Amino acid sequence: AKQNGKNNYQLFTRELDSLMTRRNHLEQALKKALDEQQFALHYQPQINLASGQVIGYEALLRWQSPLGNVPPSEFIPVAEETGLIVPIGEWVLRQACRDTKRFHALGKASANISVNVSARQFKDPDFSQKVRAIFEEEHVDPRHFEIEITESVMLDIEHSARVICELKELGLRIAIDDFGAGYSSLNIIKNIEIDTLKIDKSLMDEVLINRRNLFILAAIIEVGKNLNARIVVEGIELEEQAELLKPFGVVGQGYLFSRPLPPGSIDAFLSEAPQKVSE
Ligand code: C2E
Ligand code: CA
Ligand code: CA
Ligand code: CA
Repeated sequence: AKQNGKNNYQLFTRELDSLMTRRNHLEQALKKALDEQQFALHYQPQINLASGQVIGYEALLRWQSPLGNVPPSEFIPVAEETGLIVPIGEWVLRQACRDTKRFHALGKASANISVNVSARQFKDPDFSQKVRAIFEEEHVDPRHFEIEITESVMLDIEHSARVICELKELGLRIAIDDFGAGYSSLNIIKNIEIDTLKIDKSLMDEVLINRRNLFILAAIIEVGKNLNARIVVEGIELEEQAELLKPFGVVGQGYLFSRPLPPGSIDAFLSEAPQKVSE
């Protein structure tokens, strides 16, 4: 048994070792990624379910690293822990501005662009000044943009409320991401005036498993509407889900409509289906 325990320990440390090594590799590789232009943004359309119109796009970060394609679920947490998310986040915002100018050049000035911002970026005391500087330098109107944040920014509610006010003064809209996935969901909308509620995929999935959940979803949509928030339901994969949601006057996002696309494919999407884009 003793022998076994020792072996297990060795196995464990070896696994831990390779995990740490992978993490270290990721961290080192991430540091280079910005300089070597390995990042790109892909865009996933958001659709008004009742009219079928595309009302905007969510920008999602992609990393084509020398190690292969690393998914955000793997590298974003490392970027957050190391603080690299701060310069990466600035790159994301600047790139989204540049891509947006190209979308506008195609005559699609109405497309709303949503950008994800992590709690760590929010903590930066200069965050809103940096955001302002980027929009000024890129000559893009912040009113075309929405910032997606999760409830985790609410850990420091006073600071976050101030940053959100400053961002709103710039003309940016605020979306709460992954709504309904945590425990304290109501706390955030109680305290801050938000523009969009993004309902987490897990909630919609539960509706299909047990229709009783539809009452809960409907109640959340109702609360959001009474607070004057636009509702976006995330992760729609099935026609059945889209049909179920149509009467609620919400926006849908998911693989059913489109995967996140590189900006060049969005150009094609826009010019092939102009009737779907609201003016
Ligand atoms: P999120 O903000 O909740 O983004 C939605 C995720 O769901 C995206 O994954 C998207 O590709 C995926 N998705 C969209 N439709 C469907 C669907 O119908 N089914 C399923 N199963 N998934 C769907 P992605 O691109 O891998 O991003 C994962 C997470 O990484 C994001 O979750 C966000 O938290 C983070 N992230 C991505 N880009 C950025 C960024 O630029 N900055 C920051 N701070 N975080 C980012
Ligand atoms: Ca998001
Ligand atoms: Ca989400
Ligand atoms: Ca998420």
